[in-house]
Amino acid sequence: MQQSEHLMNIDRDAIWHPYSALTSALPNYHVISADGVRLTLANGKQLIDGMSSWWCVIHGYNQPQMNQALERQLKDMAHVMFGGLTHTPAMQLTEQLLAITPEPLNAVFYSDSGSVAVDVALKMAIQYWYAKGEPQRQRFISLRSGYHGDTLGAMSVCDPVTGMHSMFADVLPEQVFIDQPRCRFGEACSEADMAPLKKALMKHTDIAAVIMEPVAQGAGGMWFYSADYLTQARKLCDEQGVLLIFDEIATGFGRTGKLFACEHAHVVPDIMCIGKALTGGYLSLAATLTTHEVSSTIDNGQPGVFMHGPTFMANPLACTAALTSIRLLLESDWQANIHRLQQSLEEGLAPCRELPQVHEVRVLGGIGVVELKEPVDMKIIVPLFVEAGVWIRPFGKLVYVMPPYIMSREDLDELTTTMVAVIAKYGELSLV
Ligand SMILES: *Cc1c(COP(=O)(O)O)cnc(C)c1O
Repeated sequence: MQQSEHLMNIDRDAIWHPYSALTSALPNYHVISADGVRLTLANGKQLIDGMSSWWCVIHGYNQPQMNQALERQLKDMAHVMFGGLTHTPAMQLTEQLLAITPEPLNAVFYSDSGSVAVDVALKMAIQYWYAKGEPQRQRFISLRSGYHGDTLGAMSVCDPVTGMHSMFADVLPEQVFIDQPRCRFGEACSEADMAPLKKALMKHTDIAAVIMEPVAQGAGGMWFYSADYLTQARKLCDEQGVLLIFDEIATGFGRTGKLFACEHAHVVPDIMCIGKALTGGYLSLAATLTTHEVSSTIDNGQPGVFMHGPTFMANPLACTAALTSIRLLLESDWQANIHRLQQSLEEGLAPCRELPQVHEVRVLGGIGVVELKEPVDMKIIVPLFVEAGVWIRPFGKLVYVMPPYIMSREDLDELTTTMVAVIAKYGELSLV
């Protein structure tokens, strides 16, 4: 208890957490271990994890095969530089990634986080056009309410309002933003839905690529849109000769019901970013995949190499985690798991529709979203969730979950029942 208090003072006084103030009034909960779908706090309380630690932990925590594979790899080597050297985990993982991602994505660039994978994608597109003798193509078309990461490059294609672009105006490259598609998932897209992209592509001659999160916009608004939009976007990009980048960092590895969300439309991007669930949540690893058309164009241009190379590129432990996680996923009946999640979330969250403070409930695959009418007060709602034994971290108006794929019916029922009860209680509390 003493020790925990001492450590918690350090946390409060000296550690930044994501999007936090150092002197935040919001408490951070001290986790001491995690197993399956449950987190154990320092005070002994157990929480059902509704977040999969932000999309990542699809097989649950403390997964025996994952642990074993990492222990084995640890004995061979934890790390080795990737410049001039290579290793089995990277080569095996690449073989696996090429097998499961759509053709003709045939070249892989590894990095340590999603944001960097997006920066790498932007640089690839720019270098591609430079090599093709169109160096003026350095800008990107991006969707409003999108989220692509926090580094300056990735941030420049995030929603300009929630991404606070005004504060960084002088250092952020100015991109072209178009309205997010309003055609919903499962519906067709009209001419009007496609008009903003069409207009932007016609108007701007300095576009290197269009970037979007296929089908499900994540941290920018948890919005699910028509797969038809991807088909039409691919057509428009081809007509204008512009590259298409899909950011599958949140949607990849089954979350939306397809292994990759672009498969809802059978559309293949020129460049694809993956991360988050790639290692099953064990280690930080991301990748940017592209076609041989893009890679060979870059290779044949000046300066003849792709200009990026992280210190921890293709870290062997991280590659082993990714390879093991993908094998676990493919060996599991992951479609049935996602189907179970979708059914439980649809049924379990339906009662939220009756609550006066709720604007909308939407579910896609293993993602359940309750959008409230007003932004939630985290100081009130998070302690209510923890008190009730679940871990859910809302943002803005959105209370959402994307549970580990292994979560049982019983735990899913408990998670959704608790969500309904807490949102109802929160509504009463925030009215008084
Ligand atoms: C989380 C996320 C990123 C950024 O990944 P980090 O690993 O946090 O840098 C980029 N794009 C999408 C769609 C994401 O969900």
